[in-house]
Amino acid sequence: MADNPDSPLPTGPALQPEEQEKMLSAAISQRATDIHIDPTRNGYEIRFRIDSLLSTWKQISKAEGTALVNQIKAFSGIETGATFYPVSHRQRLSISDRPIEMRVTLVPCISGPKIAIRIIDRDTIRKTIHQLGLSSSSLSGLQEWITTLNGMFLVTGPTASGKTTTLYAILNEIVEESRHVVTLEDPVEYEIDGVNQIQIDEHHKLNFADGIKAALRLDPDCLIVGEIRDSGPAIQTMNASIQGHVVMATMHSRDAVSAVTRLRNFQGENHQIAAALGLVANQRLVRKLCHDCRKEVKLSKQEETYFKRFHLRPPSRAFGPGGCESCRMTGYYDRTGLFEIWRMDEEAYDMILRNTDEATIREKSIHSGRTSIHEHARDLIEAGVTSFEEVIRLGLDLPWSDYNALG
Ligand SMILES: [Zn+2]
Repeated sequence: MADNPDSPLPTGPALQPEEQEKMLSAAISQRATDIHIDPTRNGYEIRFRIDSLLSTWKQISKAEGTALVNQIKAFSGIETGATFYPVSHRQRLSISDRPIEMRVTLVPCISGPKIAIRIIDRDTIRKTIHQLGLSSSSLSGLQEWITTLNGMFLVTGPTASGKTTTLYAILNEIVEESRHVVTLEDPVEYEIDGVNQIQIDEHHKLNFADGIKAALRLDPDCLIVGEIRDSGPAIQTMNASIQGHVVMATMHSRDAVSAVTRLRNFQGENHQIAAALGLVANQRLVRKLCHDCRKEVKLSKQEETYFKRFHLRPPSRAFGPGGCESCRMTGYYDRTGLFEIWRMDEEAYDMILRNTDEATIREKSIHSGRTSIHEHARDLIEAGVTSFEEVIRLGLDLPWSDYNALG
């Protein structure tokens, strides 16, 4: 499967070396995924999101900020002059001879227009399942699903946890000429050749429920639902899976097992959920320790308690962040996936059918078919890939204060 670099996006002129080009070049060289230009009381603040976290790049005066906002409006095709409602435009341009794609969103705020720029990294859709950061047991679970394509693949996690990247990586594995793939996305971030992508557009009454109905009339072999947000689409998606379509979807849920509760809350009947689910993943993106400056640390008793709570042995060794030039003194560089993979087996099927509560399913499934996210976190800490404090930052389970209280 190849992505389509020639899709008809508005192409802006090569930028003059002006303020916005300096900003974009800096953002790209620092691997930023988003740029935020925020009006403040005295001027504007420009921040970059790098490896999940925002950091200030520059503070500029009101006059400089207004000029920058106008430059961005001009190159992204947003009407110059006052803006009274949120607008969003996609733009492709060339920075230092490198083609860059971005989505510019402008929202009028009390103190002035706020701009958010999402830098769209096309490498995201070229990733293979081997590049997601899965542990070997999770990877083999996923490969087993890809071989059989049995039941729905549901990937869960909070916003910006890499769910779409995971879906595209699997799509790369299963797309072939003989398969007709239809996706429903809001928004369509990456255009892909050979895939029918439907953009959800609530303003024009194209919601997920109607989109799924339309997509199924297109006779797809594989249906991808960008996000299950409410009852109608949840039931439709499960029914599509039960009817034999290969279905992949994303949904917000705390962990893999709580996806069952979420589907029950969406009025899904236990027999539907049990019959529809094939594999449930839960994922986060965790920052990787900078290899140039990470240092070995000793975990405290409380920190070891964290793993014992999940019936896991603590990591045999751990590393913490240092700070050097290559990581901008943050101690971290790049991110990787942290995964929980839950394969439906006979026992899981029976438990869902018998309306077993979430806590019991969680407890029993750990002995069969599920590798927990905490175990993956422990292994990444032990391997020096990430730190304990980074795992805590993700808030996977209890608040850290509760562990401190446990002593
Ligand atoms: Zn470093």
